[in-house]
Amino acid sequence: MPFDPVPALLSQATEQLEAEFTTLPPFAPTVDRGAMETVLAETARRLGDNYPYFHPLYAGQMLKPPHPLARAAYALAMNINPNNHARDGGRASTEMEIEAVREIAAMFGWPEFLGHLTSSGTIANLEALWVAGQTAPGRRIVASEQAHYTHRRISAVLKLDFGEVATDNRGRMDLGALEAELRKGDVGTVVATLGTTAMGAVDPLDQILALRERYGFRVHVDAAYGGYFKLIAGQLEDGARRAYAATASADSLVVDPHKHGLQPYGCGCVLFHDPAVGRFYKHDSPYTYFTSNQLHLGEVSLECSRAGAAAVALWATQQLLPLRPDGEFARGLGQGRAAALDLDRRLRNDEATSGGSRGLAAGGPELDIVVWKMAGETVEESSRLAQEIFVAAAALNLHLALVQLPEPWFQRGRPIEKEADSQLVTCLRSVLMKPEHEAWLESIWERLAAASASVVGGEER
Ligand SMILES: *Cc1c(COP(=O)(O)O)cnc(C)c1O
Repeated sequence: MPFDPVPALLSQATEQLEAEFTTLPPFAPTVDRGAMETVLAETARRLGDNYPYFHPLYAGQMLKPPHPLARAAYALAMNINPNNHARDGGRASTEMEIEAVREIAAMFGWPEFLGHLTSSGTIANLEALWVAGQTAPGRRIVASEQAHYTHRRISAVLKLDFGEVATDNRGRMDLGALEAELRKGDVGTVVATLGTTAMGAVDPLDQILALRERYGFRVHVDAAYGGYFKLIAGQLEDGARRAYAATASADSLVVDPHKHGLQPYGCGCVLFHDPAVGRFYKHDSPYTYFTSNQLHLGEVSLECSRAGAAAVALWATQQLLPLRPDGEFARGLGQGRAAALDLDRRLRNDEATSGGSRGLAAGGPELDIVVWKMAGETVEESSRLAQEIFVAAAALNLHLALVQLPEPWFQRGRPIEKEADSQLVTCLRSVLMKPEHEAWLESIWERLAAASASVVGGEER
């Protein structure tokens, strides 16, 4: 592993934090250091049973290592372990949460809003759909076929009817299909995904909002994965750029700092455009220790206890790497995207390494996720080749992912056929979300080419 600056930074900052509490009589918890050492050694051994998520050759699922500063700030906060349910549970970390969330809202063009951190994108989406259900009781939620599976499940939890809207062959919500749903007259909320989980597809939010004028419904934006691309929307294709330009007009929005925002897990964020939705959260808890009369985040959150440390880590990260289009964080997003475009181009131009045997997605990556199908006589053969390359690449320390997509998407120029749509083909998928992926692409490509050759070539011999 590379040199880790966290322990030294942390020990210095811990001394500074201790100095804030010098009026107290000295106290140290009794611990058995030797026993802890033994258990921790065993813990390290057990943790070895993992893919190397921290390394640039891990290019599979949506896993981005937390920034070293986020790790240090989180660990520092563990000396206090604040609870952002109420100010009394975490005074400083509540202020930090409010400041950090305000910066995120500003990124989406919302000077006025109601919002807070959550333990995940799932919980953030749950809150957004819960509010949607409160504002339009009995009306349906619709999301695209490529939307995160959580929306269907959350709708079931909330006892709201849920409908799926077809997508085009790049995984984006099909507007004709959406309008057909809207004409039924019972849609309360449309979920627009900016950056689908499978392939980073960007739903046409601007055009969905235009339909809102005609049909009247709430628009919830699930940008759990792709939200931060708002900062580099100018570098995206026209359609995606227009979608990101429209975020200011959505009714609610979810983004996951623990996906692309360099945070440890346990950090999602939900924003509501209309602060008045706070009324839905009103509760009368005898447990909440309301000793100040300022707003407690626990009053506008479905969750009770929440990790103050998550807010501390996020706040610190945004101090170091402000959410600015011209900042270092935005540059990092651009590097991942450059890596994705590079891989896509290599896959398309590749004759030598694959003998032209690689099939491809109909369009290039909209964000930083590349998906490709292996050429094969049948869906089964394509799927098997993808699986074998996945295994062969891992043996070369290159970690990819697999995803199932409708086979017809890969047949260029052919219209989507509903029946054939159900034919799913297993594809290779690479999420190139680390800035380092750009510089490592050559190395990733060499391994991918070798893995592909061993599988495809081995077959011909
Ligand atoms: C990851 C993801 C979610 C779920 O978020 P968690 O933080 O994993 O609970 C929801 N929607 C999209 C688009 C996602 O990518």
